[in-house]
Amino acid sequence: MNTIEQFNQYVMPSYGRYDLVMESGTGEAAMSEDGKRYIDFGSGIGTNSLGYCSEEWVDAVCGQARRLQHTSNYYYTKVQADFAKALCETAGYTNMFFGNSGAEANECAIKIARKYSFDKYGKGRHNIITLVNSFHGRTLCTLSATGQDVFHNYFFPFVEGFVNVEANNIDDLRAKLDDTVCAVMFEYIQGEGGVMPLEQGFVDEIFKLCAEKDVLTIADEVQTGVGRTGKFLAGDSFGRKADLTTLAKGLAGGIPIGVCLAGEKCSRVLTAGTHGSTFGGNPICCAGGMAVLNKVNSEGFLDEVAAKGNYIREKLLKCGEVNSVSGMGLMIGIELKTKKAGDVVKAALDKGLLLLTAKTKVRLLPPLTISYEEIDEGLEILTGILNG
Ligand SMILES: *Cc1c(COP(=O)(O)O)cnc(C)c1O
Repeated sequence: MNTIEQFNQYVMPSYGRYDLVMESGTGEAAMSEDGKRYIDFGSGIGTNSLGYCSEEWVDAVCGQARRLQHTSNYYYTKVQADFAKALCETAGYTNMFFGNSGAEANECAIKIARKYSFDKYGKGRHNIITLVNSFHGRTLCTLSATGQDVFHNYFFPFVEGFVNVEANNIDDLRAKLDDTVCAVMFEYIQGEGGVMPLEQGFVDEIFKLCAEKDVLTIADEVQTGVGRTGKFLAGDSFGRKADLTTLAKGLAGGIPIGVCLAGEKCSRVLTAGTHGSTFGGNPICCAGGMAVLNKVNSEGFLDEVAAKGNYIREKLLKCGEVNSVSGMGLMIGIELKTKKAGDVVKAALDKGLLLLTAKTKVRLLPPLTISYEEIDEGLEILTGILNG
């Protein structure tokens, strides 16, 4: 039995997968079991932020695995304390909660928002506004939060208390932000929703109305955070800091982590016994996260991410098949004129380039460390397919 047959016999078929077995990777390229090299413009959906197996990341992770792999959250470890300090200082937040995924980070933010409101105002103020076309995760609660009907099947009953507002529709926001609402949750750039940035005016209105009504802002930066957009947080580009920000995907360079960052206002909502996670704050993941932060915080790194993003955008816009390019930094959505995104991804796979889709667009989330050489190599394949 080959790897694919064996896998499919023993693993539930909940994903549509390509017929490709990955074996190893170095830098910006992955190698398949049959020895073919792939330039990676997807980085494991934005998780391998430093590319494959970069030396500093491997040293940090392996060093920690040899020292101490896990304790439990009954004890303290220095690597967690160091990582938490570095992350809070980098992101500009007071404190944080450790989980293992984006969905868990969002669950934490939702729990904090509801408890903040309950502690202060009592019952009846539990609703959370989320946006149409958003994506917040696959657990029952975060699916309920997700503003896309395609996700609201089979698993009834869903978690109550989510109200959807159309992105960039200020009237809709004003109409629904009543005294039953404790938080507004949003992605600055909707990732799974098709790399769709919010408009500055809409973001400003969210923060204005929320400040007036003591309603919390929750920025889901699971995809946009940790340098992806050319700033540490996408909120930095909008000149805004949400009360709660969630991070996950790229935070530990490709190993499981998810955090919920809190500003001063929400920093003492969770008290002993109100939330937890066995693996949350795993020391190996914290060590990986520290390697990512060291890199992202190094002199000029984020400017380079922005510059590489602009370079890719300019090249793509010269391609006749490209209708528009959305996103910021190295989070890029490509709207095509005639070709189907799924067909482009398949054709690219044949030619040794890994791409993603987001709705009808081709989506690029290359490693933040990608070199211009590899960008050119990947773009040559991509534009060749688009022009073909
Ligand atoms: C990927 C993603 C999530 C879910 O993260 P998981 O780690 O898969 O649970 C949540 N929100 C956004 C914006 C995401 O892109």
